[in-house]
Amino acid sequence: MRRILFSVSAALCLGLGPGCATSSALKPDARQPPASTATGRGGAAATVDVRATSAAIQVLRSGGNAVDAAVAAASVLGVTDPYSCGIGGGGFMVVYLAADQRVVTLDHRETAPQALERSRLYEKGAPLPFGEFVTSGLSVGVPGSLMGWSEALRLYGSRSLADVLQPAIHVAEQGFEVDATFVAQTRHNVERFRDFTSSAALFLGPDGQPWPVGSTFKNPGLARTYRLVSEGGVPVFYRGELAQAIVDTVTRPPLVPGAWRKVRPGVMRLDDLERYEALVRPPVTSTYRGYTLYGMGGPGSGGVTLALTLNLLEAQEPASVSRTAFLHRYLEASRLAFADRNAFLGDPAFVSVPEAGLLSRDYAAQRRSALSVARASTTTAAPGNPLPFQGEGSTAAPLSEVARPSAEETVPDKETTHITTSDAAGNLVAYTCTIEGEGGNGMVVPGYGFLLNNELTDFDLPASVDAPHPNAPAPGKRPRSSMSPLLVFKDGAPVLALGSPGGSTIITTVGQTLVNHLDFGMPIDQALAAPRVSQRNSPDNKSQAEPAFIASPEATALAAMGHGFTNVGQIGALTAIRFHPDGTVTAAAEPTRRGGGSAMVVEPVK
Ligand code: GLU
Repeated sequence: MRRILFSVSAALCLGLGPGCATSSALKPDARQPPASTATGRGGAAATVDVRATSAAIQVLRSGGNAVDAAVAAASVLGVTDPYSCGIGGGGFMVVYLAADQRVVTLDHRETAPQALERSRLYEKGAPLPFGEFVTSGLSVGVPGSLMGWSEALRLYGSRSLADVLQPAIHVAEQGFEVDATFVAQTRHNVERFRDFTSSAALFLGPDGQPWPVGSTFKNPGLARTYRLVSEGGVPVFYRGELAQAIVDTVTRPPLVPGAWRKVRPGVMRLDDLERYEALVRPPVTSTYRGYTLYGMGGPGSGGVTLALTLNLLEAQEPASVSRTAFLHRYLEASRLAFADRNAFLGDPAFVSVPEAGLLSRDYAAQRRSALSVARASTTTAAPGNPLPFQGEGSTAAPLSEVARPSAEETVPDKETTHITTSDAAGNLVAYTCTIEGEGGNGMVVPGYGFLLNNELTDFDLPASVDAPHPNAPAPGKRPRSSMSPLLVFKDGAPVLALGSPGGSTIITTVGQTLVNHLDFGMPIDQALAAPRVSQRNSPDNKSQAEPAFIASPEATALAAMGHGFTNVGQIGALTAIRFHPDGTVTAAAEPTRRGGGSAMVVEPVK
């Protein structure tokens, strides 16, 4: 997002706690000019924003671990990338704990309020119009970010929340230089922000326009919020004054007097916040050509969908066919995997997901028969039947109860963000966090400086209110997510950590980057920069793609096999860390998408 020089001088008082006066400037590292790739030792970080990456690196330099660094980066992104992520949202974190040689995941996904009966999202028998659902109190899930950060630090970190929030507090107070990406993101939201007193006051100038490029953007409200949390801990947010402010905003949206917008109030109550939990879950584990992959399970769909795609692809050795033939199989595998994703995956607390069946190699072998190696499919793929592959003691629901393919979104989301960190001890974090759409639900919590999410729009609303669907809304349920933070190992040693924003294209962005890197042998920075294509079993059978992919010789060759492409502009903004056999790592962020990201290491090597 930002590779600009930054004028921020952020205090970092790690170990000293809140209120410390000592400051070490959060300045660009003279040895590391802003860049999207960095190689070295001692720990690394890659994010969409140079300030967030710098905060992570300074945490690592001061002795913090990869988890501390990831939370520091996330809290800075809440300031500098507020339309993508923050404490009004949630996320998925995958962590490798080197000392235990163990991978864990932390689900801090937003959750539907207890009073959110499905019928509230229907009017006159039809689902609410999507646009009205997004900008409403009804789309707001109980935010999980802060609980996720707190639990990550408590369980796996080495610093307190108060410590790691210090860089973000300073950036929020001192401000940062607005760049073209920030202006563009604000502009996309101008109409909505104008309709809410709190959002207009924070994100628009007195003329009702975005703050211009080069101006200094400060967020004293968010600085205050972070300070409150530093002093009072997580209870301030989930039980205290912030909980009340969130409930007030959701139930009485802060509309500008006279605004025409129809904004439905939500039904969140204080006890929804009080009961919120971040959940430690085992990763979804799969293998691909000798690599072991650890991804996110339910309510995430990324781990299973990626594993199934790769299981379908694994039968084909990349070296034995042309690059086009291999890409064709990858796209068709992704089409089938998305048919299954859409039919079966949802919050496992509410849905009997046939995960073992979907991950089984025998299922993939059978499912592969639906894949033509010669031609692109001319029809939308139907889901397979993984139930016979579930194994003993399966509790998965019968196919008739769960399999209702859902329509896939047609335009990829542009928001969310991904943070990748590692440390000298070998710990590793892949962390994707979000407020869902660009600008979330458009409402800033008055006085507290953060936007609320619209994550509940990730639920599916089938045409009729009682139609079964694994991802239909229900009180206390978490909407299915595509966020796909992923760790890749070989022979027990880390190889790669990665993830991306981009709605359901996240899964294909991570998948294509794996194919580029593991199968086509591209260095990680090239693998993540390469033009993207995304096949998600769309109703028109086409793949979405970036213009550069559509213009490529591969696309021409694929078109001859029956593939069609829809130009959707940019897809994703991936960050990754690649581990090398000599003990060095390469941190890599997008060079251009979203204005380019920032990668740094603790000790650069030439
Ligand atoms: N809310 C989406 C999800 O959890 C991510 C949104 C995005 O990446 O744009 O799948």
